[in-house]
Amino acid sequence: MNNSDSKPPTPEEISKKLEDFMKSSFGSNVNFSSFAGMGDANEEPDSEEPSEGPTQRDESIFDFNYLPKDIKRHLDRFVIRQEDAKKALALAVCDHYNHAKYLRQQDSENIEFAKQNVVVLGPTGVGKTYLVKHIAELIGVPFIKADATKFSETGYVGGDVDDLVRDLVKRAEGNVELAEHGIIYIDEIDKLATRGNAMGRDVSGRGVQTALLKLMEDTEVSVRNPMDMQSQMQAMFQMRNGGKPSKDTVSTRHILFIVSGAFSGLDEIISRRVGRKAIGFDAVKGQEQDQTSSLFRAVSTGDLIEYGFEAEFVGRLPIRVVCDPLASADLCEIMETSEGSIIRQYEREFEAYGIKATFERSALEIIANRAVKEQTGARGLMTVAEAILRDFKFELADSGITELKIDGELVAHPAATLAKYMALCQDTDTQMVQREVTTFCADFQEKHGIDLTLDLNAVRLLGQRSAAKNMSAMAWCEQSFGDFQFGLKLIEKNTGRRSFTLPTQAVDDPEGFLSDLVLKSYEDQSKATTEPETP
Ligand code: ADP
Repeated sequence: MNNSDSKPPTPEEISKKLEDFMKSSFGSNVNFSSFAGMGDANEEPDSEEPSEGPTQRDESIFDFNYLPKDIKRHLDRFVIRQEDAKKALALAVCDHYNHAKYLRQQDSENIEFAKQNVVVLGPTGVGKTYLVKHIAELIGVPFIKADATKFSETGYVGGDVDDLVRDLVKRAEGNVELAEHGIIYIDEIDKLATRGNAMGRDVSGRGVQTALLKLMEDTEVSVRNPMDMQSQMQAMFQMRNGGKPSKDTVSTRHILFIVSGAFSGLDEIISRRVGRKAIGFDAVKGQEQDQTSSLFRAVSTGDLIEYGFEAEFVGRLPIRVVCDPLASADLCEIMETSEGSIIRQYEREFEAYGIKATFERSALEIIANRAVKEQTGARGLMTVAEAILRDFKFELADSGITELKIDGELVAHPAATLAKYMALCQDTDTQMVQREVTTFCADFQEKHGIDLTLDLNAVRLLGQRSAAKNMSAMAWCEQSFGDFQFGLKLIEKNTGRRSFTLPTQAVDDPEGFLSDLVLKSYEDQSKATTEPETP
């Protein structure tokens, strides 16, 4: 092949050649993802709900100076209720990072410390992730969230679990030291329990627990997945370019693990052990969720083992935190006071279309009541609000409407309320057309000395006709009525009439209407002259 004639290969072509070469040399199980992405350490990690990237403060983590109350105060701005959880998490985080700081100051790694990994128990959508995300943002450490079910489903247990740590490095933009102080949050941890084996995950559930156990303790994870040729080659190129070899393992010693789940059925285990009376309530219908929360607060290591966790696994999760279900009043409060309220989001979205949306308490109450029925915690708020407001956003975006009052009436009868707004829009259109017609008529009066007006139906029809022709109302008037003065002057001559109000027929067929009017004026004139005047 004559290379001098051919074009240089594209990155995709190089990638394909290299991939074929790798596969033929090392077998088909190597993964050569993309040459084009090579060297891109900032690639988004595959985490479910990434937080915003870390702030540029990799060193500041060692200057950790927060008090538990500082963290709680910050969380209070966003998270409604969950007082116990806020306190427990604030403390756990402070203890964890104060310890890391202490080790750094002592320059010694040989101080005994039992890592304070956390398990959060609570139903879905009540703020578990939200709490952790805001803590990570405040203290400036990278944070990733993953779902425990992801590991059992792939069947490739160990590798996937290590990927959590690598994702954390990506989240820290390649800063290994910062990643070593990050937070890994794993939801749906209860799905790894092997009790009853309802999900058929007996074996892999235990396998994942074991793999996670290693991470939660103190282990070294390779920065590069040994099976990922892209990152291996990236390291190779870095070396060849004389780049300083970056740290190639990540220690999990100071990574804080927070796991969570709804733990359905765990309440029964606890209740069997402690007895319902011991918790201080009788089984009252409709209070099941509160009872579950109270029982969760009494959870013991034995209960979690009975639930289906390995004793060692439970042992690595010494801090237990309970998040409570949210009642309708809590959901209202979230909408009204949380800095992350969906109400703020809707206000911004409407504002982008020039509409000032205001939510009234009456609307929030109905939305909250409906959201409770969804049984997805605060997530239900978005589902309910979206179903009500989507059509408003769509229809009013270009309507000229500038204010939208979202009240109980609107929420209870969205379709009827939207229809009223649309009628108002049409009237707004009509008003605009009327203004142009008035200007035309004033002009006509000035030039020809004849008073011209259009009745309301004529104005409405004119609005439709001009819009259909993509013309302004003014241009349409000029085109259709611009020569009306000749006919109207004849009429004036015949009858003395100098003032005309045009009906819809004049808009529908301007010429026909005018000639009929002129003819009629001749008839009227002859009638006036031939008919004898009544005495
Ligand atoms: P989960 O408990 O399942 O982790 P999340 O924390 O992800 O639920 O909550 C989903 C969303 O609902 C959050 O992003 C937040 O907007 C809202 N939310 C949930 N709980 C609360 C709360 N207690 N206070 C304020 N907002 C909340």
